[in-house]
Amino acid sequence: MRKELLQVLNPATEEHVADVPAATPADVDAAVTRAAAAQRGWAAAAPADRARLLRRFAAAVDGHAEELARLEVTEAGHTLGNARWEADNVRDLLEFSAGGVERLNGRQIPVAGGLDVTILEPLGVVGVIAPWNFPMPIAAWATAPALAAGNAVILKPAETTPLTALRLAELALEAGLPEGLFQVLPGTGPVAGNALVEHPGVAKIVFTGSTRVGRAIMAKCAERVKRVTLELGGKSPNVVFADADLEAAAAAAPMSFLDNSGQDCCARTRILVQRSAYDRFLELLAPAVEEIVVGDPADERTQMGPLISRAQLDRVRSYVPDTLEGIRGKAPEGPGFWFPPTVLTGLPEDAPCAVEEVFGPVAVVLPFEDEADAVRLANATEYGLSGSIWTRDLGRALRVSRAVRAGNLSVNSHSSVRYWTPFGGYQQSGLGRELGPDALTAFTETKNVFLSTEA
Ligand code: NAD
Repeated sequence: MRKELLQVLNPATEEHVADVPAATPADVDAAVTRAAAAQRGWAAAAPADRARLLRRFAAAVDGHAEELARLEVTEAGHTLGNARWEADNVRDLLEFSAGGVERLNGRQIPVAGGLDVTILEPLGVVGVIAPWNFPMPIAAWATAPALAAGNAVILKPAETTPLTALRLAELALEAGLPEGLFQVLPGTGPVAGNALVEHPGVAKIVFTGSTRVGRAIMAKCAERVKRVTLELGGKSPNVVFADADLEAAAAAAPMSFLDNSGQDCCARTRILVQRSAYDRFLELLAPAVEEIVVGDPADERTQMGPLISRAQLDRVRSYVPDTLEGIRGKAPEGPGFWFPPTVLTGLPEDAPCAVEEVFGPVAVVLPFEDEADAVRLANATEYGLSGSIWTRDLGRALRVSRAVRAGNLSVNSHSSVRYWTPFGGYQQSGLGRELGPDALTAFTETKNVFLSTEA
């Protein structure tokens, strides 16, 4: 039977890059059998040996970082600077996770008449379903700690971006990881992704993608009580108080929603500004948005590249009719999936592009009155992934950080992601946490053993 082909296009030029065969349910089944066999040996290996192999994998990624970055530019349209960070992030995740192998300690708990210990055991085969917006890092966030905790991983990359994932699987083998331990199966969501979710041999699914698909996957996992981590959508606020350093806040705001062309689950796309500073902030924001360099992602000076696909471009356009008022930056004409940096003003709080995830270079600016109003507006969303608070008042920064229902907040900064700090969403933005000090334990079961001294 001829396999369906996934067509990879360069989003900046629309040129054809590759055709990749899509995995069938039979391919998934065979991969699970191979993974289960590899996992048994891997879990039984000495921790120091597993750690050493993961460090070798990290070194292989490091040695091919530029190649991986260029591949990401070609298949995902990421700027070269971002793509280099992404390849380095995979290396860092592998090194960080390798450092956890010998530290995956259980506990000893006081009991009468014996000894009580907990053992952290690997789950078995973990299925990772990744989106196209950060193909390499998001794959690694789950894969590295899952492997470190003694599991095997089957990764299904997004339809449009399978190439870096396939290359990572080759590098894992070259580094000496056992055959079958880390497999990449490109395929469509409804076929290969669904087969992973339904497969009884897959113990856990780590899904990153849209809230709509995440909900459906969680429902399917519930049928088998399959473990699941969900990293879903976002509509994150950037709250600017009048007492903030307005110049700094306005200078930082554009890239907080334009990075990766806004295709970032943490994008600060709701800019909430205290009314007394609203006009001044917009005056400062306009030139900062207009100056963003949009163009060839392979050019080192470029700050923003294209959207991933025509479908994504159509989706973004549907949210932004030409009649809306605001600030517009520049974007190239001609082939490629280009959309200019856009800031919309004068909209009601419940306008679709103020509450729905557009996943493009589009933000809205909304005014608020005081601290209570800022918190109300920041929380006026079903999501809860990230957010930023700009103020010089430390007490206010802490009060608002506590009051905003989101998993990753930053004060006077837009940083969200460090591989050694936890990451994940409240509400409809997800379930569970990735990264951080507990990254490995998300891929273990806790077994409690009581040993009697009385017998
Ligand atoms: P998507 O939900 O359409 O697809 C994500 C992945 O799921 C793809 O690999 C796809 O093939 C697969 N999939 C689709 N249908 C499936 C099914 N029925 N069964 C199994 N797998 C299926 O999302 P997308 O458009 O690729 O990614 C964009 C979304 O991802 C945005 O909503 C964004 O916010 C979210 N995201 C979240 C995070 C986070 O960490 N919270 C990070 C990045 C992206």
